[in-house]
Amino acid sequence: MHWETISKDTAPGVPPNLADYERARSVFTWSQARTELAGLPGGGLNIAHEAVDRHTAAGLGDKVALRCVTRDNAVSTVTYGELAHRMARFANVLRSLGVGHGDRVFTLLGRCPELYTAVLGTLKNTSVLCPLFSAFGPDPVEQRLRLGDARALVTTAALYRRKVADRRTSLPLLEHVLIVGPGAEELPGTLSFDELMSAASDSFTIPPTSPEDMALLHFTSGTTGTPKGAIHVHEAVVAHHATAAYALDLHPQDVYWCTADPGWVTGMSYGIVAPLVHGVTVVVDEGDYDARRWYRILGEQRVSVWYTAPTALRMLMRATPREGPYDLPRAYDLSALRFIASVGEPLNPEAVVWGQDVLGLPVHDNWWQTETGCIMIANFAACDIRPGSMGRPLPGVEAAVLKQGEDGRALITDGGVTEVDRPDVEGELALRPGWPSMFRGYLHDKERYDASFADGWYLTGDLVRRDADGWYWFVGRADDVIKSAGHLIGPFEVESALMEHPAVAEAGVIGRPDPVAGNVVKAFVSLRPGIGASPDLERELLAFARRRLGPAVAPREIAFDQNLPKTRSGKVMRRLLRARELGLPTGDLSTLEGSA
Ligand code: ATP
Ligand code: MG
Repeated sequence: MHWETISKDTAPGVPPNLADYERARSVFTWSQARTELAGLPGGGLNIAHEAVDRHTAAGLGDKVALRCVTRDNAVSTVTYGELAHRMARFANVLRSLGVGHGDRVFTLLGRCPELYTAVLGTLKNTSVLCPLFSAFGPDPVEQRLRLGDARALVTTAALYRRKVADRRTSLPLLEHVLIVGPGAEELPGTLSFDELMSAASDSFTIPPTSPEDMALLHFTSGTTGTPKGAIHVHEAVVAHHATAAYALDLHPQDVYWCTADPGWVTGMSYGIVAPLVHGVTVVVDEGDYDARRWYRILGEQRVSVWYTAPTALRMLMRATPREGPYDLPRAYDLSALRFIASVGEPLNPEAVVWGQDVLGLPVHDNWWQTETGCIMIANFAACDIRPGSMGRPLPGVEAAVLKQGEDGRALITDGGVTEVDRPDVEGELALRPGWPSMFRGYLHDKERYDASFADGWYLTGDLVRRDADGWYWFVGRADDVIKSAGHLIGPFEVESALMEHPAVAEAGVIGRPDPVAGNVVKAFVSLRPGIGASPDLERELLAFARRRLGPAVAPREIAFDQNLPKTRSGKVMRRLLRARELGLPTGDLSTLEGSA
């Protein structure tokens, strides 16, 4: 690796060094982490109580919980006290509609204060919340409402009209549709969210809630196939709380911004639950991505901790290259910013260093999945960053690298002994179940759930390398890894090398079958603004990659494509690049960005 390790500075707020972390890790237990939360007065555990009521009970009712920035940059605030009242009202609304324990409540909303009310009120009522991405078309919306047995849906008139109205007859379980904002009276079969809210009482006692009660249903991103509905329980809040402290360095005085859409697990776990449980002020941005707007929010809202994704960072990198000039970021006062983290896809080393140069802070990559429910492996606050690495397992997380057996199933090598202590190994990342936010099943798909475990390990489907010091490096999804002339090639390594070329904005790499090599590496590349595709550039990029990666790993072919297919959560859909290349069926495209 030619990237240098970025050492931790000693900025205020940065917790212990690695030795302290190792100590914390050795004494950490989830049951101890559980004691840092309040629990319900009569026993049990409920996410809504931990996220809001706990703070109001501690006298923090006047603290700003949400700072909402509208599309036209108007800012409004909601305090913890107001949020407590609103969520209680919504819990009463659900109760009055006969929606109760375990019933599924879906949201189809952008980032707005009502989303927070609906999510927390649903959890308070011990119903189950399932967030949908508001840019989904009618098919994926219907598919998920059906799969998730939706009883209630909270949405807006415009979204309902476009995506749900003419599907109602095929969704007999969907009894209640609540329309946020105006328009309910013109839409048969719907109710006004606002009217119901103003009629409801703002006092509500949480019914008994077992930590094992289902709380959240999350559909995966669909990067590798049909999205799966992962079941999470109230106990997950223990993990959200602990991991946000370790991996995001959240402290009560922080102003925190998570750019993930609430339709994905990141936008829920770390956009809503974790920051509120920590009692911080959360920036809620209703607008769309725009480099200027984002720098403005970071500056004007005095954001101190920022959680975003590689795809977003790459967009910022396009707008503000490392080579400068830094006019755009310098136009805003980013001095409050002290911690940046990223998740969702591998973070190219280039992006980590870009953060250091342009924003004055490196980006801390971390790894987790819808299934794991919380951050598992991270370049956490206390450890040095190794650019391009996912980091190290958080306290309470036991990770291992497993080898593929002959029959294709992952087996633990060494006669059942894990490779935890062996340096520099490569294989499938596996996790020892037992952390609180571990998914409890795929809805209506026990077989798929059971197939995710072997010999007491949860198999993540991701291939990784663990270096001699215990840092994990993403190699690729098991489905995406390329076998070429006897080598196993991770697309990420090739993509990252290409991205170091100043002309390249993004890259997606696949294997194309080849009679001699088995597969050869083919790269699809999008270019920085103002740079045109040409045969010369293609030759230059091929040579550039060859110099960096060597002939066995470097791409043999490069195609230029300014619109790399991505999931709505921002991941390059290599399976679609491959299917298109090979003329194969494209499979489930419900999460493809730009699809209806
Ligand atoms: P599906 O399971 O439906 O194919 P998905 O796996 O993309 O979709 P998510 O649960 O949203 O759905 O994403 C988790 C996956 O994203 C991980 O398994 C991993 O492949 C990838 N990922 C997340 N964070 C990182 C990271 N920091 N580095 C590398 N890969 C990451
Ligand atoms: Mg997955």
